[in-house]
Amino acid sequence: MTAFGSVFMPEMALTVFDGEKWSEAAMVPSDSISLHPGAHVLHYASTCFEGLKAFRHADGSVKIFRMDANIARFAQSSELLALPAIDTAQTRDMIVMAVKSFAGEVPEVPGSLYIRPTHIGTEPAVGKAAGPSLTSMQYVLLSPVGDYFAGGSDVALRLLLEEDGMRCAPHMGRIKSGGNYASALRPTLNAKRDLKVDQILFCPDGDVQETGAANFLLIDGNTLITKALDDSFLHGITRDSILTIARDLGMNVEERDLSVSELLERSQKPGCEAALSGTAAVLTSVGTLLHKGKEYQVGDGKAGATTNKLRKALNDIQWGRAEDTHGWLTCVSSC
Ligand SMILES: *Cc1c(COP(=O)(O)O)cnc(C)c1O
Repeated sequence: MTAFGSVFMPEMALTVFDGEKWSEAAMVPSDSISLHPGAHVLHYASTCFEGLKAFRHADGSVKIFRMDANIARFAQSSELLALPAIDTAQTRDMIVMAVKSFAGEVPEVPGSLYIRPTHIGTEPAVGKAAGPSLTSMQYVLLSPVGDYFAGGSDVALRLLLEEDGMRCAPHMGRIKSGGNYASALRPTLNAKRDLKVDQILFCPDGDVQETGAANFLLIDGNTLITKALDDSFLHGITRDSILTIARDLGMNVEERDLSVSELLERSQKPGCEAALSGTAAVLTSVGTLLHKGKEYQVGDGKAGATTNKLRKALNDIQWGRAEDTHGWLTCVSSC
């Protein structure tokens, strides 16, 4: 199977901001865009994006999961990066237009169509290191994806707890912006190479935050613990969905600070589970934590039953196998 996100539909929806208004959005070839080499994004990283999915249900309909939550986050990222304000109704229309254009090619579950709205600063102005791009471009790329869990849902990741470094500057954490991934990349690659871990769980000053691209959840019996929302980390929509489902299932959800010492202590209890959440992999078990050269198994070190139950409950809603009680799906084709 090809790597996640490396195959694209041949067209995407695109609009440009000329300093005053957004152009009428249109479907255009997705193999290239034209950009001045001095474009603001290429020098000062004025870029943000979103990641969401459309699913094909058994009745042939195509539904997008939590589109409005993603658009709201996209608008906020654009605002925090001082990019031109997006028109959220237009972005919504672009996502729907793009997915409708390729509705016939949305994979069957467990596959899906991954949707990647992107917003970049295009003003040719290398003198604007401390100024915003007054022009920009927004496009919605589509990528059909297979089952992340083709290898089975018993995967359990190995994470390094990193207390010295951080993923990104603390005031940038909740922006889904390119520069944040660049800043986490080298430490993550080094940890993968030297310690054979899958990811770094960034825990600046002992405060458990998140990995390079996923939120962290600790499940101790009937209690689910995860960091409360603040500026320092990305407010995942999968995180929010899992917390909502956990509450629906009668679990006790604690959104609060979690210290490395509490995490290590709790993780040793039998039945304790840990997981990472994000749109791509939904919910993935964490089996091992590495801290200051010592290894800690989380529970029995294997994929957790509650983690798998929560992932299935979310997939069931996404795949049309359970009722969409929270109104998370938007039907765009064969409704
Ligand atoms: C996208 C992302 C997540 C997960 O967000 P979802 O909305 O659940 O996909 C978590 N952390 C980071 C840093 C991310 O970029």
